[in-house]
Amino acid sequence: MQKILNYINGELVGPASGKFLDNYNPAEGKVYSQVPDSDAADVNSAVDAAQQAFEAWAAMPVEKRSAILQKIADLVDRDLDKLALAESVDQGKPVKLAKAVDIPRASSNMRFFATGAIHFASEAHVTGTEAVNYTLRTPIGVAGCISPWNLPLYLFTWKIAPALAAGCTVVAKPSELTPMTAFLFSQLCMEAGLPKGVLNIVHGLGPRAGQAIIEHPEIPAISFTGGTVTGRKIAATAAPMFKKLSLELGGKNPNIVFADCDFEQAVRTSVQSSFSNQGEICLCGSRIFVERSLYERFVHEFVNMTKQLVVGDPQEEKTRIGALVSEAHMNKVLSYIALAQQEGGKVLTGGKRVILQGRCANGYFVEPTVITGLNATCSTNQEEIFGPVVTIMPFDTEDEVIGYANGTPYGLSATLWTENLKCAHRVAAQLKSGIIWVNCWLFRDLRTPFGGMKQSGVGREGGWEALRFFTEAKNVCVKL
Ligand code: NAD
Repeated sequence: MQKILNYINGELVGPASGKFLDNYNPAEGKVYSQVPDSDAADVNSAVDAAQQAFEAWAAMPVEKRSAILQKIADLVDRDLDKLALAESVDQGKPVKLAKAVDIPRASSNMRFFATGAIHFASEAHVTGTEAVNYTLRTPIGVAGCISPWNLPLYLFTWKIAPALAAGCTVVAKPSELTPMTAFLFSQLCMEAGLPKGVLNIVHGLGPRAGQAIIEHPEIPAISFTGGTVTGRKIAATAAPMFKKLSLELGGKNPNIVFADCDFEQAVRTSVQSSFSNQGEICLCGSRIFVERSLYERFVHEFVNMTKQLVVGDPQEEKTRIGALVSEAHMNKVLSYIALAQQEGGKVLTGGKRVILQGRCANGYFVEPTVITGLNATCSTNQEEIFGPVVTIMPFDTEDEVIGYANGTPYGLSATLWTENLKCAHRVAAQLKSGIIWVNCWLFRDLRTPFGGMKQSGVGREGGWEALRFFTEAKNVCVKL
């Protein structure tokens, strides 16, 4: 069985303890590889390597640093098919989606920050005729980057690319549930000639390997994407050590449909924003609010289109909904569907586990599920389910729907559908979400700041914000 290895000081090595964990293929419900069960000893070796590599990497001319990172992006492009298949096997998503979204985005993350660093500028302030102040930005040191399982290589590169481009060295941990593409990525870094110790990848469990990264005194900055509960724990550990923190956490995103919307587009994209990647995208719209005069028509068409989504083998071309990432996660999603029914919800379509024939007979598949009849404050509409489950509710007024939309502890993203420009601006300004899509979904310009409000996170990633995060700013005041 294939053994995934850590990438420390430029080499692929097993964990110091010699212990490995089982890695499952969720579409088959079967162990298919082994992942290091790393601990503090491995994290210490990774931090030592990163510290040793730091001075030379930070001092390297930015064009040279950029060229190495772009070479890695080229290799990701070259290995598109292989990486997409690996991501699909590890995570359960349709290989078609991995090929169209996850892997291309991983390479554009690398390219975006590699070229961004070349154009990065810091501020200068002329204080009359008295002095000139300039902001000297230097890489902060060894960065700790921890990523989740839902978009494995996409989110892994979203964290490490700005850190490396800014001149930091990195100790990173992908999710233990989806380690394969980060492992393949480490081989590409070796092929691209990334100097040893610049990027170190330590695999393993969150509370063991992840916690050791957070606690390490020589890691001054942590960039984390994952659940809100984990984020809270990380903040509690890191804050007393005065670490710089960027936390990208959970969401319970509203999707608001006004009666004057472009109906076809709103329904089609809402089906996509509800069920893409099995609903396992932090930006999926899991609460749909539809203006009452359009409600019946919208629900009817939405349910019809949902019924057409093929749940199946992630490697088949026609499959739109693959497997959920793990048995535990599938059970969590099914328990929320049961809870929704206890809360008075009506399942209009879906609601059950899907048992497929053949290779995927033991896979973790759940039908795309549409629920109505719930109020905005019930647990189903308050807690993140992170699966192919969506609720639909009618609303009468703008103020009412803004109240529903903002009425959860989360504030990651929101979508709204209207042809009325004034309404779009007015509502967008009042939504407490880090990103608001008007008449579209998941459209991203990497130059824009990205991140959540409230319990969806602190800090902003993307664009200059991400490059700045990994630097330390010093004001130099020169008297004229
Ligand atoms: P998770 O919090 O369980 O795990 C995320 C990562 O943190 C994993 O690598 C895990 O091993 C590690 N981890 C767990 N405990 C840790 C600890 N004590 N110390 C350090 N690291 C630890 O999240 P998940 O289940 O992998 O991912 C799903 C969650 O991520 C959802 O809530 C989703 O909304 C969120 N998410 C948010 C964004 C965003 O941009 N805001 C993007 C994707 C996913």
